[in-house]
Amino acid sequence: MKALVKTAKGSGHVELKMDWPKPEVKDGWVLVEVVASGICGTDLHIMEDTHKNWPPVILGHEYTGRIVEVGNDCGDWLVGDRVVCEQHTGACMRCDACRRGAIHLCPQKRSPGWGIDGAFAEFVLLPVALLHKVPDGVDFRTATVTEPTAICITGLDRSGIAIGETVLIIGPGHIGLISAMLTMAAGASRVVVVGRASSANRLTVAKSLGIETYLLEDPLSAVKDLGADFDLTIDSTGAGEALSLCAQLTRRLGRVLELGLSSTSDVQFSINAATTKSLTIYTSLSSEYSSWDRALKFMAAKKYDPSLFTSVYSLDDWKSAFHDVETRKVVKAVITPQNFSVLDQRA
Ligand SMILES: [Zn+2]
Ligand SMILES: [Zn+2]
Repeated sequence: MKALVKTAKGSGHVELKMDWPKPEVKDGWVLVEVVASGICGTDLHIMEDTHKNWPPVILGHEYTGRIVEVGNDCGDWLVGDRVVCEQHTGACMRCDACRRGAIHLCPQKRSPGWGIDGAFAEFVLLPVALLHKVPDGVDFRTATVTEPTAICITGLDRSGIAIGETVLIIGPGHIGLISAMLTMAAGASRVVVVGRASSANRLTVAKSLGIETYLLEDPLSAVKDLGADFDLTIDSTGAGEALSLCAQLTRRLGRVLELGLSSTSDVQFSINAATTKSLTIYTSLSSEYSSWDRALKFMAAKKYDPSLFTSVYSLDDWKSAFHDVETRKVVKAVITPQNFSVLDQRA
């Protein structure tokens, strides 16, 4: 089968293979024909080798598709079911995190797309224990964004969001825009997405979705222009200066949520900006079962349409897709190994 493979450790070493072995179904696992798989910042980090990975491994961890083969002991799952899958394969079920029910935080887990084979391929093998059915009415293009939506929901659950609150989000990438759409739907009275000139295209997309945007030139003017009294600020970038700016723009006793991951381990953050206002800082990694469940229900209820900011590429055209994400030309690039029209299927 066709597959985009990280072939070796080190920067680069990503190749489209035309005859990579098709996975074989096993007990408790199903074979899924991939319809689409989104690119996220983590894929760029894996490509640069700044995120953990176990090559040779097929990339792609935000996917949806249709079951084409069912292994033994797979319960009620059927060929033809449309699915998405949580990213917690390899969770040990013995460590402290697993025994607390937080399998998404298990240090042993090895997710599809970096730990085991992912979905920038024609087929992907997935465990039924982590599957979710895509509800009828939700098209594949929307379902592709379930994983990042679940990540935002898990983070927002931690930080809390109350009706009427004001929210500021740094970074107009997909995590930033999804957080904006979710907090708007949750009843925030004002939601502002902040980005630099290098993200001008993404800010334009945000604006077209009805989101208030702000072009950041320097932190001082941002404080002057936007005020320093947001109830909740969210950083989706993982950059220390962005987290520091969040702290500056949050009201006293307010909350800051870090949803970004940095590619470097040392991030500079001015702690006094937070301490002098007694801020609560939340971090959040990965996504919980209930966040996936609610993300799909939310999509099914047509409360939210993340497909509005996806751009679709064929698997053959993966280089342009990665390039357009890297240069921030698009918000969300989605790669499909199939005919683009399949993305519109709703059942
Ligand atoms: Zn991701
Ligand atoms: Zn564990």
